[in-house]
Amino acid sequence: MQYRNLPSVEAIMATRQLQGLAILYQRDWLVNLVRQQIADARDDIRRGQDAASVDEIAGRVAQQTAQVARPRPQPVINATGVIIHTNLGRAPLSEASVDAMHAAADRYTDLELDIEQGRRGSRQAHLQPILRQLTGAESALVVNNNASAVFLGLSAIAHGKEVIVSRGEAVEIGGGFRVPDVLAQSGARLVEVGTTNRTYVSDYESAITPDTGALLKVHASNFRVEGFTHACDTRELAQLGKRSALPVLHDVGSGCLLDTGEFGLAHEPTPQESIAAGADLVFFSGDKLLGGPQAGIVVGKSDLVRTLERHPLARALRIDKLSLAALTATLLHYLKGEARSTIPIWQMIGSPLDDIRERAEAWRASIGDAATLCQSLSTIGGGSLPGETLPTWVVALDCSQSQGGAEGVMARLRTARTPIIARIDQDRVMLDPRTVPFDEGGALLRGVKAAL
Ligand SMILES: *Cc1c(COP(=O)(O)O)cnc(C)c1O
Repeated sequence: MQYRNLPSVEAIMATRQLQGLAILYQRDWLVNLVRQQIADARDDIRRGQDAASVDEIAGRVAQQTAQVARPRPQPVINATGVIIHTNLGRAPLSEASVDAMHAAADRYTDLELDIEQGRRGSRQAHLQPILRQLTGAESALVVNNNASAVFLGLSAIAHGKEVIVSRGEAVEIGGGFRVPDVLAQSGARLVEVGTTNRTYVSDYESAITPDTGALLKVHASNFRVEGFTHACDTRELAQLGKRSALPVLHDVGSGCLLDTGEFGLAHEPTPQESIAAGADLVFFSGDKLLGGPQAGIVVGKSDLVRTLERHPLARALRIDKLSLAALTATLLHYLKGEARSTIPIWQMIGSPLDDIRERAEAWRASIGDAATLCQSLSTIGGGSLPGETLPTWVVALDCSQSQGGAEGVMARLRTARTPIIARIDQDRVMLDPRTVPFDEGGALLRGVKAAL
C-alpha cells in the first residue's frame, strides 16, 4: 500500500528546492539523483518503513548536490602537529608559489617557447639555472614526482643491467614505492650487497661485474637503524664509481636544501652535499622538506641528465605547467635566502616555542573546562627525518563528557564545516597550533566547541 504513496519524479522536480537547483545544474543529473532517491525510498518501504515525502526526497537531493559540488580536495585544518602529512597533501605552498600558479593558469605562458630566439624551447630550461645554483650540479631535470624521477633514471641508465644496492637500503618508502619493485619495473636487475645493518664500499666493489650499470644509494627516509651499523658514505661510493666508470645514483628523498641542524633536528642529507660528494645523479621530491608542489627533481652530470631527458618515459612523466610555476617560485625563495620566513613548512618548523604556547593558551581559555595545556611533540612526517620531533605545546581535550568519547569528538571534528584533523593520545584529543595557520584559528575553535 505504502508504494502508492511514493512521489513521482515530476512531483519532486516541481518542488521549489529542485526548481532552484535546476537553474544551477543539468536537469539530467538532478533527475538521476531523484530516481535514485525514489529507489532508496522503495527499499525503505520493503523494510517496513514509511514512504518518504516529496520534501524529504527533495531535501536529500539538495544535500547530495551540495556534497558533490564542494571543491575537492577540500581544505582541512591540520591540528595534528605533523608538518608534512601525506594524507593531507604534504607541503602547503608559499603565497608567491600560489600566485605563480595562478598566473600560469589563467593565461598563456612561454612554457615551451624560447622568447629570445622565437623558437621552440624546453619547459626544463626555466628551472635549470636556479637548480644549478642551489645544488652545484651541472644540469637538472624536473618530472612529476620523485618516484617517477627514480624510475626514469633507472630506466634510462640501467635497463637490462645490474644495479648494486646496499641490503639496508632496498627499502619501502611507503605508498607503494619499494626500491626492489621500482628497479624491476625499470628493467634493471637488483644486486643486494652487505647486510641489513652494515655495508662497506668493498661489498659494492666485489659485486661489480661487466653487467653492472649503476651504483644506487637510497636514503632510508622513514626509518632509522640504530646500534651496530655502517653505511658507506656518498663520497666513498662516488670514488668507487669513478674508479669503475659506473654512475652513482643517489635518491636523497626529502629534498632538504636547508641545514636541519639549525632547527634542533638531526641532519637530513641535502642534494648539494650529495653533488659535492661526487654523486652523478641525485633525486628528490618537491613537496617534502623542499616545501613546494608535487615534483621530482633530478640534478647531476649534464650527459646523464640529457640521457634521461631523451628517454621516451620523460614525456610520460613530465611535470605540468602549474607545478612548474609553483616549484620555480618556491626555489626562488631559497635563492633569495628567504626560505625560512616565506615557505610554510619552514615557518612551522621554526615557530618559536613561546609563540606556540601563547596560541595554545588562547585556545585553552576560549574552549573552557574541557581543555588543558600540555607539553607535547610535533613531528616532521612525510618520510622525512624519521623519529625527529620538535617540542611543542598542545591543547588536550577531555572528551569524557562528550558523546562517543574521544573517537566521537574526532568524528565530529572531521565533519565540521572546515574539517579538523587532530590526534588522540591517552583518550584525549590533542590540538597542536604548530600546523594551524593563524587565520584558521577561529574556524578551529568553532569546530571544537561544536564537537565537544
Ligand atoms: C618520498 C620518497 C620517494 C618518493 O617520492 P615522491 O615525490 O613521493 O614520489 C622516493 N624515495 C625516497 C627516498 C623518498 O623519501
